[in-house]
Formats: sequence, C-alpha cells, structure tokens
Amino acid sequence: MKKHILIVDDDPEILESIREYIELSGYSAHTAPGAEEALEFLKTNHADVIISDIMMKGMDGLKLIESVKDEYDIGIIIMTGFVGEYTYEEVIRKGADDFIYKPAKLEELVLRLQKVIRQRELEQERNQLIRDLKKLAIVDELTQLYNSRHFYELLSSEVYRFNRYQRPLSLLMMDIDHFKIYNDTYGHLEGDRILSDIGGMIKKSLRAMDTAYRYGGEEFMVILPETGAKEAVTVAERIHSEISNIKNDVLRSGSVTMSSGVTEYAYGETIYNFIRRVDKAMYVSKKNGRNMISILLAESVA
Ligand code: GH3
Ligand code: MG
Ligand code: MG
Repeated sequence: MKKHILIVDDDPEILESIREYIELSGYSAHTAPGAEEALEFLKTNHADVIISDIMMKGMDGLKLIESVKDEYDIGIIIMTGFVGEYTYEEVIRKGADDFIYKPAKLEELVLRLQKVIRQRELEQERNQLIRDLKKLAIVDELTQLYNSRHFYELLSSEVYRFNRYQRPLSLLMMDIDHFKIYNDTYGHLEGDRILSDIGGMIKKSLRAMDTAYRYGGEEFMVILPETGAKEAVTVAERIHSEISNIKNDVLRSGSVTMSSGVTEYAYGETIYNFIRRVDKAMYVSKKNGRNMISILLAESVA
C-alpha cells in the first residue's frame, strides 16, 4: 500500500517541487500551505509521515510537531534553514523523527523519508510482537479463555476491590462430566475440539464485566464482579444450556454436561478460602449426580 506523505510549507514553489518528487518516488503526496491547514487535513485524512517547514506564518513547525504528537501517531521530518532558525537538538527533542537543512536536496529528502518509514514499521512490528507476547502469557491457546495464572492475578485485584468498596463478587467453577469417557470414546483430538467449543460458548454467555478462565484440563472458572450468588447461578444456567447443544451418544444424558459450583466472596476472607469453597460447591454437584449447579455460601461452611 502506498504511504501517505503530507508536505507543509508556506512557499508554494517549494511545496510543489517536493510534492512532485515525492509522487515520482512512489508515495501518495498531499500538501498544506501552513500548520493550521495541516491539522485541518489530519482531522479527516490519514498521513504516515509529515514533511514540514519550520518557519511559517501563523503556527510554526515546532507547534505543529507538538499538536501532531499529542493526537496522532505520525512520523515527522522537519526542514529548516542554516541560520537563525532552530537547532537539530530542539527539533528532535520536540519529537521530530528527522531533520533536513533547506534548501533540501530532494534525493536526500526521499532517503530520509525512507528511513523514517522503515523505523516506524520496525517500531510497529515490535509493538505488535509485545502485544502478542502479552496475550500469549495470559491466554490459553486451545480455548482462547484466560489461563489460570491470569485467574489468580485478576481474582486478587477483584478481591482487593471488594474489600475496599464491598461490592458483591462471585465465582463460578465448572467441570465437564465424565470427560474421560468422552476422550476414550471419541479420541483426545475430538476432546480438544469440544474444549475449544466450550470456551467459545462460555465467552458468548458472559456479560462484558465477567471474565472466563481455563482453570485446569477440563475445568473452567468465571469471575463475576458486581454479582451475587443468585445472579451467578443464572449465568451458569445459561452456559449449561449452551453446552447441552453438544451431542454425546455415549452418555445417558445424550449431550455433554457439566457440574458447577457457585459462591460469593465473604468480607476479609483469603483468596484460598474463596476458591476452596467454589471447588467444594462444584464437588457437591458431582456428588449429587452431576449436570447441576450448586451454591455454597460462607456461612454454610464450618
Ligand atoms: P468427572 O465427571 O468426575 O469430572 O469425570 P471426568 O472423567 O471428567 O474427570 P476426571 O478428572 O477423572 O478426568 C478428566 C479428564 O479430562 C481426563 C482427561 O482425559 C481429560 N482432559 C483433561 N485435559 C484435557 C485436554 O486438554 N484435552 C482433552 N482432550 N482432554 C483433557
Ligand atoms: Mg476435572
Ligand atoms: Mg470432569
């Protein structure tokens, strides 16, 4: 894709000669006769790099750098005269990516432009890589839910928030019933496919503030901030109902089922206790015949 270059200069002849050369060099060139016009242009148009004069009537090039860097992610090359204007240091410190003396040799200007574009591409690649790595560290590849490490991190901050503001906070734990039989019958790969489907179904059933995690092999957790246990059960029911759409000919129920536990955080308790209770609630569902949701509240545990 062609890069868009915005050229800013109050001398129409310079503007035109640079525009022509930039276009000939394979870029899409746009022009503005001053800094104000350049900012106006950017409100509705995209530019990858700005090449701007520094001494202009009205707003000067230094102000333009400030305004652009505040609002946009655009490279800037500044053109300046040899005497009495600004130093290299001043211009770069303001945030310009490069600097060229006027009258600018057009060949040199294009070389500098290529360098700025390449630098920006490298930086964007690097930022993308960092975003990918950050995601890898907290997201489970198979289900695309968050992983258990992120679960502990987020639960800690939610518990901290609860203890500060005393808003309700619930946990939902789900464990697939007889998943070993499912794997043994259909194969591990098919089991993986179901786990991935279930991940999508859980996500689909949640509200924006809820977060879902693959807690163990076939165990899932949902953190539900601002939510009491009863409401959490409604969320669990929604997920159970979604998952019942997955057929399973081996089991009596005819579909994949889960056993779930729900609990609400009790003021001041440890995260360990909170998690242990939701695990117990889930286990109550297993003990009582599976494919059900059980609530266990702090008062009811010894
Ligand atoms: P229960 O109803 O008591 O939960 O029975 P279960 O068979 O689901 O429970 P159990 O803990 O005995 O076994 C869990 C099984 O989940 C064992 C393993 O085959 C399967 N499992 C765990 N992680 C994965 C995974 O990543 N992929 C697949 N395909 N299976 C997994
Ligand atoms: Mg399990
Ligand atoms: Mg299981």
